[in-house]
Amino acid sequence: MRLELLRTEHVNMLACIRCGQCLTSCPTYLLTMNEAEGPRGRIALARGLAEGTIALTPDLIAHEQSCLVCDGCTAVCPAGVHMDPIQVALRAAIEPELPRSQVVRLARRVGFSLLADLGRLRLAVRLLALAQALRLPALAGRLGILRLLGLDAAVDFLPERIDTHFLIPRGEKTGQGTPVSLFAGCVMSTALAEIDRATIRVLERAGCAVELTAGQGCCGALHAHGGDLPTAKELFKCNIAAFERDGGGPIVVNSAGCGAMLRDYGHHLRDDPVWVERASAISRRVVDVSAFLAGRDVPIERPLNAAVTYQDACHLAHAQRVTQQPRQLLRAIPGLQLREMRESTLCCGSAGVYNLTNPRESHQLQQRKLDNALATGAGVIATANPGCLLQLQAGLRARGSDVQVKHVVELLDEASAP
Ligand code: SF4
Ligand code: SF4
Repeated sequence: MRLELLRTEHVNMLACIRCGQCLTSCPTYLLTMNEAEGPRGRIALARGLAEGTIALTPDLIAHEQSCLVCDGCTAVCPAGVHMDPIQVALRAAIEPELPRSQVVRLARRVGFSLLADLGRLRLAVRLLALAQALRLPALAGRLGILRLLGLDAAVDFLPERIDTHFLIPRGEKTGQGTPVSLFAGCVMSTALAEIDRATIRVLERAGCAVELTAGQGCCGALHAHGGDLPTAKELFKCNIAAFERDGGGPIVVNSAGCGAMLRDYGHHLRDDPVWVERASAISRRVVDVSAFLAGRDVPIERPLNAAVTYQDACHLAHAQRVTQQPRQLLRAIPGLQLREMRESTLCCGSAGVYNLTNPRESHQLQQRKLDNALATGAGVIATANPGCLLQLQAGLRARGSDVQVKHVVELLDEASAP
């Protein structure tokens, strides 16, 4: 076990005063009412491990790995404990000790290497789109092949129609006005590329010159939260070097999870004298698209007669503290009726690949979120993160519901189209 890595977050852990204020903000604590499934318990376990007073047991591993890294606790902690970097360090520290089967190890290696190389990811997404068009996943599901490969759950979370018209940033500049750079993302620029294109259109209409910075890639969040910190750091450095070469304006991000990780680059590279300043400079430029647009004039051209409920993505609401701006943008659309749901900031259970690694808890949270969303009677659920979008779409499909899930910028794009 790489204890020295875990100990880099020791001061963060020591800040916990065990007040318990975070408990009712923690999704897994709400599901179980178990101290070890809450932030305070997880911090105590990680601290015991770092201090060498407790051993790495299967129980400890299970309690730590059931954390969604949603930062719900971080957002309410009066002592300033930050759970995300504790989990990043812990997961990287214990990864070599985890009893994973060869199949799981291989699946992780393939998944992480695809995300780390967008060329390979684009090829994989094209193959997936072809398989979807030929209805192969449904056939493989009926034949039991997916279950055999452990992929039966993964197929449920595919977009209804996978986009193969990818957005490939090559340094192009579009539009006129305030210079900004778009962080295109891995999933966003491939399977959900239409959301990236909608983001560019809205930014242009809001008076921005958008640069599609060449050389950028995946933000590294899935690797960092999945225990592969070395690959995550390579991706951090690749993105830092890429954005250092562009116009230097705000880096606008339409994926809450990517935005939160980009803003943490400085923290994760704090012990690297070559990169720490450069990382912090890039982190300071990062801004979520809704926070950026809320301060600008988005020309609205048409009403959208729809009842919409907004679900807060954890990494926007908790990690970046952006809650009012998306609502403000939605309320500014004539005809759009914004209906608040209960527990809108409680995680939907997506959390990167949590819906694959912890399907039971993920399903419980997904159903709870859908119950709250559908109780509003809204026909559209708006969100700001690709994981939430796919998680909610999968749940609605399974319920046979015709309620739609859209990114906030998709609604703004519709309303601002000339
Ligand atoms: S709110 Fe913060 S200080 Fe209080 S128990 Fe939770 S993590 Fe510890
Ligand atoms: S990050 Fe989320 S799931 Fe993990 S302890 Fe904090 S509130 Fe609970």
